[in-house]
Amino acid sequence: MTSFRATFCPDCGSKLGTQWLEHKERPYCESCDRIIFQRPIPCADVAVIDGGYVLLIKRTNPPHAGKWALPGGVLEAGEPPAVGATRELEEETGLSVTPADLTIIGGYTATAPQGWYNAGYIYAVLYDNVSGEPSSGGDAKETRFWNLDELQSSEQELRPEPDDESHIKKSVNELYEDR
Ligand SMILES: [Zn+2]
Repeated sequence: MTSFRATFCPDCGSKLGTQWLEHKERPYCESCDRIIFQRPIPCADVAVIDGGYVLLIKRTNPPHAGKWALPGGVLEAGEPPAVGATRELEEETGLSVTPADLTIIGGYTATAPQGWYNAGYIYAVLYDNVSGEPSSGGDAKETRFWNLDELQSSEQELRPEPDDESHIKKSVNELYEDR
């Protein structure tokens, strides 16, 4: 299993052929007799909401370096999504939250420019349920609250899906509707 479409077997290094399985031609290692599936990378993001504001980070690293995005990142193997979401939030913003205080508000798929696929969970939490002051670390070089109305006029500065203005706004509005 790889995040790229593999050319060589990640286990034995043999050049891969193909095999047809479940309506798709897939990379196949004859030596290991196994299909090398290409899988999306699981991610989790968190929208910290304070009134009409949402906390975003300015990304340090590719993909989309320099763009603003929800704090979040890739889940570790064996890590429950809500736990990964809180870990990433703390790494990037210094804010702590209990995983049980997160509300799941959506999911997404996105294509990274490097050609792999992300599949993610979006969580939200009210700022009242978070401890600490926002700071920047990990993949974040800046952290600040954005007014929801400001997002529309700053679309160019935002990471494309899942952080386009409409997606963030939808996420936040859904959280409020639930309350
Ligand atoms: Zn092999």
